[in-house]
Amino acid sequence: MIIVMKNGSTKDQEEQVNRTLKEWNFQIHVIEGVEKKVIAAVGDKRRVDFGFLESLPGVERVVPILAPYKLVAAEAQPERTKVRVGPVEIGGDRLVVMAGPCAVESEEQLLRAAKGVAEAGATFLRGGAFKPRTSPYAFQGLEDEGLAMLARAREVTGLPVVTEAVDLTQVDRVAKWADIIQIGARNMQNFGLLRAVGRTGKPVLLKRGLSATVQEWLMSAEYIMAEGNPHVILCERGIRTFETATRNTLDLSAVALAKTLTHLPILVDPSHGTGKRALVLPMAKAAIMAGADGLMIEVHPEPERALSDGEQSLSIPEFQRLMEEIAPVAELAGKLLARLG
Ligand code: PEP
Ligand code: MN
Repeated sequence: MIIVMKNGSTKDQEEQVNRTLKEWNFQIHVIEGVEKKVIAAVGDKRRVDFGFLESLPGVERVVPILAPYKLVAAEAQPERTKVRVGPVEIGGDRLVVMAGPCAVESEEQLLRAAKGVAEAGATFLRGGAFKPRTSPYAFQGLEDEGLAMLARAREVTGLPVVTEAVDLTQVDRVAKWADIIQIGARNMQNFGLLRAVGRTGKPVLLKRGLSATVQEWLMSAEYIMAEGNPHVILCERGIRTFETATRNTLDLSAVALAKTLTHLPILVDPSHGTGKRALVLPMAKAAIMAGADGLMIEVHPEPERALSDGEQSLSIPEFQRLMEEIAPVAELAGKLLARLG
């Protein structure tokens, strides 16, 4: 449930509400909105005396949350979450674009990609240092060396960096080097990993699992928020269906739906969503119209030589064209493209 405090309620009144909730063994998350303070309380609602709670001084109203995800639910927060990363805000009225190679392959490759996407107007650099590959014999990433290269590319371009932690042992290292920790589709229900990235307090980009329902996806976001980390960004990246003509089926209806179910920002990854370079631009445009707060796009300076996901990676000129073509679409959707600085 959430307890909406009255405008002008005092610290003492808030304390009294918190004490009452703690006596009932509730976990408390205080959400400071621009207009109102809201206390989100998670626990066993059979213990709650709603009338008493609502009669406490300073309380405007008590709203039960019926969805199984409590902190993530749209009703838990009157305003949409905005995740601030350096100079950029995700989930506000600007569309963010995260772009870069599937994997960090070398300093030269990464810097060429980073400079290219920065010049074209991307607001984040993406790139995997740890890669979750289907085959144990495929390129697994440059690991710590890759993280250092990402940090160097950030220094050169000013772009904040998003990169994946594939397992628990990598969380602290990724949290130290990256601006946003990515949880990949294959790890969406790795609950220990979700808890660990929740505890870092860093922004987390949570990709939808390959065959996860929207509810399962939001429950996974709840794991991160339940650790006290409100900086969660969702990312739709396509799901498994009977269709094999595309790598995955990009589920844009889930984006429009999730916007109604949660206050968290939602990005779309049309690169993994389709697996085909030629489909990235049209699906990026469609994603914006479906309500996406941003895009994640794979870009490689020489896609034909990429060590992973070359077929879905855009070249730098193709990415430049994408940035030009999505600007008017974003405007139509009521958004401007985010810019650094
Ligand atoms: C990625 O973004 O590099 C990636 C591996 O994506 P996903 O987890 O969506 O497959
Ligand atoms: Mn990839």
